Amino acid sequence: MSIEYLDNYREPRYVDMLARRIASVSEGLGRPVRLMEVCGGHTMAIHRFGIPSLMPPGIELTTGPGCPVCVTPPAYIDAALEWGETSGGIITTFGDLYRVPGSAESLEDAAARGLEVRVVYSPFDALQIARATPDREVVFLAIGFETTAPAVAATLEMARREGGAASRFRVMSAHKTMPRALQALVAAEEVAIDGLILPGHVSTIIGSGPYRFLAEDHGVPCCITGFEPVDILQGILSLLQQCVRGTPVVENRYGRAVRDKGNPKALDMMRRCFEVVDSQWRGLGCIGGSGLDLREELADFRAPCPDPREASAAMDRGCSCGEVLRGVLAPPQCPLFAGACTPETPAGPCMISSEGACAAHYRYQSA
Ligand code: SF4
Repeated sequence: MSIEYLDNYREPRYVDMLARRIASVSEGLGRPVRLMEVCGGHTMAIHRFGIPSLMPPGIELTTGPGCPVCVTPPAYIDAALEWGETSGGIITTFGDLYRVPGSAESLEDAAARGLEVRVVYSPFDALQIARATPDREVVFLAIGFETTAPAVAATLEMARREGGAASRFRVMSAHKTMPRALQALVAAEEVAIDGLILPGHVSTIIGSGPYRFLAEDHGVPCCITGFEPVDILQGILSLLQQCVRGTPVVENRYGRAVRDKGNPKALDMMRRCFEVVDSQWRGLGCIGGSGLDLREELADFRAPCPDPREASAAMDRGCSCGEVLRGVLAPPQCPLFAGACTPETPAGPCMISSEGACAAHYRYQSA
């Protein structure tokens, strides 16, 4: 059996086999390579499993804009707080966003002075709060990539069908789509990468097709992988082999979850509820066609988002999250890392989010 196509991803001895194969291909390549992953799940898995320690000299693993909380700009938090102040409604959010600073304060700060902010596990929980409080509007802060957007779309369809108290459910959509962000990233001169480990979860929804331009037009080797050590190592090996061959493609090494055409039902649900818009990314700025907002038919459910073309409010406190999200700085290169900025006293979202690059480095590399 060729070790490039291992399907038993739980077999520990494959880790050693793959690490040795990676070292051998890297030596044959004879030059350093820089590989970027763009998925918060991969960030945590790579550090939790100690993958960097298995790499030979010359292979650098870096992190891109794959953490949904981290790429959400401060202006979005500001807009959510303004909505809460002016509407008197209830703000609902995933827990990771709760401590992320806006330009002046976080949702946590605002809750401490009396604004009603509730942490939920899904948009369905937020709709349930709307049903239970018919005298108030309830907004769900919808962030995340193609992975989370289908559940928000399903909740919106439910609320529209239901009417009554559910019609006071609102969505502030800052959903983002991955392919356009990757296009902006590979076009940026400062971000020199030799290969992309493509996001596993996003790819279960969109499939492999939407990434093809990265290999065909930009010449970047790409590989979709899962989250086990064997998956990740197979992805790295695939990228190195593409570098050796000099023929970049999009390989799918996560076939047990990702189909070429993705998940048609989820995509269809997203198309019914969302339209493609420009979006503001922390660290990357405004990227055309990289966001999702509610379609006009669902305008009654929309809570207004900030204009994506306006510059995002600058982060003070010396935070370098923007550079970390572009792969320009590694977390330990931020002057605040592990000093003024720790998980207990975070200065930026990359340390706050459970999928943030700084949190991953701090937790697994700084010990
Ligand atoms: S260490 Fe803290 S301040 Fe520095 S980039 Fe990471 S999250 Fe931002």
